[in-house]
Amino acid sequence: MERMIEGFDEFRRHTFPEQRELFQRLANGQSPHTLFITCADSRVMPEMIFSAQPGELFVYRNIGNIVPPYAQHVSGVVAAIEYAVKVLRVRDIVICGHSDCGAMKALQHPELLQEMPSVSAWLKHADVARHVVAENGPGLHAHDSLRCLTEENVVGQLEHLRTLPSVAAAMANGTVRIHGWIFDIAKGELRGFDAAAGRFLPIGHGHQLPQATPLARFAMRLATAAA
Ligand SMILES: [Zn+2]
Repeated sequence: MERMIEGFDEFRRHTFPEQRELFQRLANGQSPHTLFITCADSRVMPEMIFSAQPGELFVYRNIGNIVPPYAQHVSGVVAAIEYAVKVLRVRDIVICGHSDCGAMKALQHPELLQEMPSVSAWLKHADVARHVVAENGPGLHAHDSLRCLTEENVVGQLEHLRTLPSVAAAMANGTVRIHGWIFDIAKGELRGFDAAAGRFLPIGHGHQLPQATPLARFAMRLATAAA
C-alpha cells in the first residue's frame, strides 16, 4: 500500500499541476471517444498503451475481456456498454484480449477452477471460444492453442456485443464501429481482427486498420434515398 501512497504523492506533486487545466476542464463532464473493454490483468494498461489523456477512454475491465450476450440477467459490463453508447455516444468500441491471459489458460484447464465457482460461471461466457478451438484445432500445440483461444474469445465477444440492442442499433446506422484487438505483452504489439480476411492483422503505423464492423445498412439506405 505504501507504494500506492508514494505514487499518489508523485501525482499530486508533478502530474496534477502539469495537467491542472485539463482536469478543470473535465471536472463537470466527460466525452470519451472510445469504449475500451479489456481484461483486468495488471499488465494491460490502456491509457499507457495508447498514450491517452484523462477523459479519452471509457475503460471497462473484467476477467477475460468478456461481454455476455443480451439476456434477462444484466451484467455490469452490459450496463456500461449501454451507457457508453446511449449517453456518452462513443464512436468506437474495442474488445481487447492479451497474450498470456490467465482466463484463457483456465479455459484450457477447467480443473484449475474447481475451487472458484464464480470465476468458473463467468468463464461460461467464453465457452464459444473453447468449442471453436476444440472442434477446429485439436492438434494445436499448447502455445498455438492459447493464441487461437485468445483470438477466438475476442471474436466470440464481438459477436455477443452485437446482440446488445443499443450496439446493434448504433452499428446499423453507422454511428458505432466495433473492433477486436489483442495486445502482446512481451512484444508491445497490437493485432486486430479483420472480418473480411477472417484473421488478425497488425495494427499501427503503415498498416490499414483491420475492420470488424459490417457495413451500416441504414446509413447506406439513407444515402441511397438521398441520391
Ligand atoms: Zn487476461
